Amino acid sequence: MAICPTGGCNMAVPKQKTPKSKRGKRRSHNALKVTNLALCPQCKSLIIPHTVCKVCGTYKGKEVIDVDRRKRRKEAKEKREKEKEMPGQK
Ligand SMILES: [Zn+2]
Repeated sequence: MAICPTGGCNMAVPKQKTPKSKRGKRRSHNALKVTNLALCPQCKSLIIPHTVCKVCGTYKGKEVIDVDRRKRRKEAKEKREKEKEMPGQK
């Protein structure tokens, strides 16, 4: 008997209902864990450990990313896109 109107469906269908206990066991690992955060030694903002700080762009006290340059480029891009949406208006 084909339930699907096209008749070509061969979807896998479970034979039996999954019991609450089995479902619960499967979901016992699904809970979200609290992310471990550290303080940036440079700007004291919360960062993921062993990563570059996104606020000041430093890692182990050295500047790795030029944050100001990124900010300027982002602003310029937004400005360009705004002008693209509404040409002639400023
Ligand atoms: Zn920082």
